[in-house]
Amino acid sequence: MDGQHSSRFTVTRSSKTVAANERAALLEDPGFGRLFTDHMVTIRYTEGKGWHSHSVGPREPFQIDPACAVLHYAQEIFEGMKAYRLADGSIAMFRPEENARRFAQSAERLAMPEIPEDLFLEAVAELVKIDADWIPSGEGSLYLRPFLFASEAFLGVRPSKEYIFCVIASPAGAYFKGGKKAVTLWVSEHYTRAARGGTGAAKCGGNYAASLVAQKEATEQGCDQVVFLDAAENKWVEELGGMNVFFVMEDGSIVTPPLTGTILPGITRNSIITLARAKGHDVREEPYSFAQWRADAASGALREAFACGTAAVVTAIGTVRSKDGDFTIGNGDGGLVTESLRGELTGIQRGTVADPAGWVHIV
Ligand SMILES: *Cc1c(COP(=O)(O)O)cnc(C)c1O
Repeated sequence: MDGQHSSRFTVTRSSKTVAANERAALLEDPGFGRLFTDHMVTIRYTEGKGWHSHSVGPREPFQIDPACAVLHYAQEIFEGMKAYRLADGSIAMFRPEENARRFAQSAERLAMPEIPEDLFLEAVAELVKIDADWIPSGEGSLYLRPFLFASEAFLGVRPSKEYIFCVIASPAGAYFKGGKKAVTLWVSEHYTRAARGGTGAAKCGGNYAASLVAQKEATEQGCDQVVFLDAAENKWVEELGGMNVFFVMEDGSIVTPPLTGTILPGITRNSIITLARAKGHDVREEPYSFAQWRADAASGALREAFACGTAAVVTAIGTVRSKDGDFTIGNGDGGLVTESLRGELTGIQRGTVADPAGWVHIV
């Protein structure tokens, strides 16, 4: 099938695909981010020429020059999204156009060319189709990782004139080891994730590089994840390294930090706000301080807290640890509101719950 044309992509099937029985064995317990499918999509960008060389081909290493700009100045952005196998055998994606839009916004912040949203969506769909056999059934999903990096060999500091856009896919089971149980968070006092005017709202690799030392500290403290406070006052709760946070109060109202440019505008966050409002919860996007969090957990005014993002969907926060000691939220094991929002969201994603907003797209 070499050289076969599917829309504007040249499709080259891998001659070394993993055998069906071996793939089935791997998909029994895929974990997260460690298995990869047989193919990848690449599109090149050259200043003056635009997007070109659209390809679906075997998954293989890049050959890049040691002076490749991304290796020195980290001009790179990415997305994370999932494809699901529905009960009728069809393949669904959840709000993929939102990922396309956010990718363009991240590109703008990193002074990179914006890939047209229809081309982004086409690229993702091409990979899902050619590697459809890698979508785990049941609870699993196929995690898709579109990314864009500066590929020009040049050490001057300015936006690159060449880029590579790529999509790879990784079959996924549960994100946190131990599945659904509540996570323990470490509050970082030394490190912040993003400051006003920085790149906190862009999905760029550099934000993750900056979060790793804090995540390492969290692990050393026996915690699953780190939660960051704001950079200006070291007072307001922002988000985890890769997930947004929500607080469920005793009166049923829900609070989540506002999008002021220092946190990532999560698509799961936006979906949860919509679903919670439809269920009658008063959802407020307003600042919530760490001191208030501790006080509300102690008084019982705070009943539940959870983190959310594409990879882990909705995860209860059980215990919060800082240098001033631990506190537990509710019984430390999640709660009914968290459970019901998770159930509704995953149900919509998997086609078992009505989708009034038209969030699910069949590939
Ligand atoms: C990707 C990401 C999220 C979650 O966004 P979703 O669109 O819900 O997956 C939250 N915070 C950060 C820092 C992220 O990179």
